[in-house]
Amino acid sequence: MKIKSYQLWLGMEIHLELKTVSKMFCACPADHFGKKPNTQVCPTCLGLPGALPVANRQAIEATVLAGLALGCQVPLFSKFDRKNYFYPDLPKGYQISQYDLPLAIKGRLNQVGIRRVHLEEDTAKMIHDRSVSLLDFNRSGVPLMEVVTEPEIHSSTQAKEWLQELQQLLRYLGVTDADMEKGSMRLEANISLSSTDHLPDYKVEIKNLNSFRFVQKAIDYEQQRQTELLSQGKKPLQETRGWDEKKQISVSQRSKEEAQDYRYFPEPDLPPIRWTKMEIEQIKVQLPELPAAKKRRWIKQYSLPESTATVLLRFLPQAEYFEKAAFLGKKQGLEAKDLANLMVNRRLDWQKLTPAQLIGRLVKEKSQAQLPLKQGEEIVVRVIEANPRAVADYRQGKAAVIEFLLGQVMAQTRGKADPNLTRKQIQKKLKEKDG
Ligand code: ZN
Ligand code: MN
Repeated sequence: MKIKSYQLWLGMEIHLELKTVSKMFCACPADHFGKKPNTQVCPTCLGLPGALPVANRQAIEATVLAGLALGCQVPLFSKFDRKNYFYPDLPKGYQISQYDLPLAIKGRLNQVGIRRVHLEEDTAKMIHDRSVSLLDFNRSGVPLMEVVTEPEIHSSTQAKEWLQELQQLLRYLGVTDADMEKGSMRLEANISLSSTDHLPDYKVEIKNLNSFRFVQKAIDYEQQRQTELLSQGKKPLQETRGWDEKKQISVSQRSKEEAQDYRYFPEPDLPPIRWTKMEIEQIKVQLPELPAAKKRRWIKQYSLPESTATVLLRFLPQAEYFEKAAFLGKKQGLEAKDLANLMVNRRLDWQKLTPAQLIGRLVKEKSQAQLPLKQGEEIVVRVIEANPRAVADYRQGKAAVIEFLLGQVMAQTRGKADPNLTRKQIQKKLKEKDG
């Protein structure tokens, strides 16, 4: 069988738990990780009949901020909708989400278009314990932001790098931990292939992708599987599949729902969201310097190689540490570039020191690395005595001799002498000899 090559069309859906104080529609704490099960619940997030939701403004603003950082438009009118489906972790029988009027639309990060950024509520957590399934409602109602991309990713490597960039950006904003291991960042991939440069009319959704490595493997696997089907003249089914890490395969879970299956309708218990342009501006000014802009500035301001800047920028606390240390170091005559190299190459356990302690230590090391004054003077005397010819030249007015003698001293001390000081010592000794 001849295997043709097909273009990969990949779109990602990324769910992110927001780091707000309270949950999306009630006053329970949003920070649920590692808490005793079902201790952070109330009638609203338990989904009891008659309990009314009140929208969390902090979560809405955080989502708009993320949308703006992703270059999105923020429509002045937005609303919540009910997405109806039955699932054990969703006792209301619907999730409050956003359908046709999300908080942010039409953005871009790097080469990949952002279709929308919307806000919804997280579901309860299911814990399967041999014969029973248990529910923990601490997670139920936690604000969940969903970023949906256009199908503009064309390789699994690009997917991984792009997702890491998104994660970094959102962490810089401080709106989410985006921690895959803790489940505060969860990924789904929509994958299809075509032999033309048009998007095909089917897509396969892969769920349960809880690490960047799994994403890459699942995409590679699915690309292979769909290529084989298409090569046999078959069309892959529109369906939802899960990634089975043990078997290293994707497995069919269910045929994919269409939007109409969810019977979306506007949430009657919540008023729609209306912004003034001024309010959007007030959120916009809260945008911090984003990683890409920081990188451009660092390369210029500190003459850092791009690779060094990239490593230091990966985590915001590390980036902030570097800038503080560079600022303090500058006053002590330390080069930001040397500092950056030291941090990247980890020649020193800087993470145990404050920036001020680190600079103090480097300044001390620098001075200790230099030769004690007396020892330096002795070497100067020796070098002068060993070069009578140079001394004679100096008497003839050849000042360049000083640099020659300095070179000799530096060679003998393996560069440990302070050049300015040594130059002065040489001049002094030559004058003494002269007089
Ligand atoms: Zn609650
Ligand atoms: Mn969702």
